[in-house]
Amino acid sequence: MAEILVLGAGIVGVCAGLALQERGHAVSLIDRDQPGHATSFGNAGIIQSEAVEPYAMPLARRDLLAIAAGRSNDVRWCWRALLEQGKALAAYARHSRPTAHTRAIATYRRLIPQACTAHAPLIRAAGAEDLIRRQGYLELYRSTQALDGVQTMAMRFRAEYGVGVALLDGAALRRAEPAIRADLPGALHWADCWTVTDPAALTLRYADLFVRRGGQLLRGDAAALDRAGSGWRLSLTDGESVQAEHVVIALGPWSPAVLARFGLSVPMVLKRGYHRHYTATAAPDHVLVDAENGIVLAPMRAGLRICTGADLAARPDADPPQLRRGEAAATQLLGPLSPAEPGIWSGRRPCMPDMLPVIGAVPGQPGLWANFGHGHHGLTLAAVSGGILADMVEGQDAYPTLSPARLA
Ligand SMILES: Cc1cc2nc3c(=O)[nH]c(=O)nc-3n(C[C@H](O)[C@H](O)[C@H](O)COP(=O)(O)OP(=O)(O)OC[C@H]3O[C@@H](n4cnc5c(N)ncnc54)[C@H](O)[C@@H]3O)c2cc1C
Repeated sequence: MAEILVLGAGIVGVCAGLALQERGHAVSLIDRDQPGHATSFGNAGIIQSEAVEPYAMPLARRDLLAIAAGRSNDVRWCWRALLEQGKALAAYARHSRPTAHTRAIATYRRLIPQACTAHAPLIRAAGAEDLIRRQGYLELYRSTQALDGVQTMAMRFRAEYGVGVALLDGAALRRAEPAIRADLPGALHWADCWTVTDPAALTLRYADLFVRRGGQLLRGDAAALDRAGSGWRLSLTDGESVQAEHVVIALGPWSPAVLARFGLSVPMVLKRGYHRHYTATAAPDHVLVDAENGIVLAPMRAGLRICTGADLAARPDADPPQLRRGEAAATQLLGPLSPAEPGIWSGRRPCMPDMLPVIGAVPGQPGLWANFGHGHHGLTLAAVSGGILADMVEGQDAYPTLSPARLA
């Protein structure tokens, strides 16, 4: 049994804490705020068991032109963002070429199918069944041409990876989701995914479970982490300090800043996303992905959450155009919507250029471990990567491609 500090109580850190605790370690989970209040607060809530191929940067000329001209709602950029994130974006482009992408898929297709099964025992033990829905999500298409275009991909996913997906024509879509007013040609139904109606509450329930199982939840700033002999020490907000043999960096988008102090330079693409909740005249029953408008409409406990695609800007926009376009698209689909809250949430997806999370021992720093960089799929992969990290701390490494050594 070892003393372990996990820094960061987002969904990734909390799941890591639970996994390490299950192996008999004495774990403290440390955050500067309450669990799940940062990136893990605002996601679309999909446990994406279908996402076996990580999202590569679109490199086709037509896609790049659409992004450059601001026609795509998936990605928004500005010159300043390109300067700030240029190195990481260039690496992302290199890793998005077919051969490198195939390498990333080889790992991802092993991780993603475990997503729901890894969450299942935690959901049960945390008493969080009321937050989970198991009816998949619908990926809507507004033109027959676009729907035809994705059919081949969907059938390939079914044949090659065993992903549960069905093609719905317009009539089947209307039966599945009567709230949609627009006359659409059809949708893909990704049937095996689970959805969460309050991602922050799920993280909090997992954190409560961690405490019930004997874990400590503490307040502190990871920037104060220091060596103490062969181990580690961290001063806490209340003036006390904690020491341990091992420390796990699970700080999501803030991980690179802390690791830079210990000699590891982490290139990360930070893809900002926005959300706001709305009251809809007729709320959908399923999570809906409006693929051609780059938004997700997720029925949540707080209302209908419209989530946007990626904004590469470092600072949040007070009136994000991607959300404005998302509101217009959602209104076409569902009828009038009114905001259920005054503010707009934003957070940054911590994306690694090679599209794989970073899990394992930090080179040259005995007792320092990484578990971050889950990009678009941190909720999906949190429970899987907690288990992988716990195996690694015990000396078993079934996923060498995730190692932080690849960054050194
Ligand atoms: C709009 C949007 C939609 C998304 N939709 C989905 C989806 O449907 N499915 C999915 O799987 N993923 C989705 N994601 C991605 C997912 O939300 C993230 O991958 C995930 O939340 C990352 O979790 P994390 O624990 O690594 O980071 P975080 O949740 O950001 O946790 C990091 C923690 O570190 C703490 N921290 C930071 N700095 C310090 C410090 N110095 N000291 C102490 N503590 C510190 C923070 O307070 C925070 O609690 C989406 C993301 C966005 C933005």
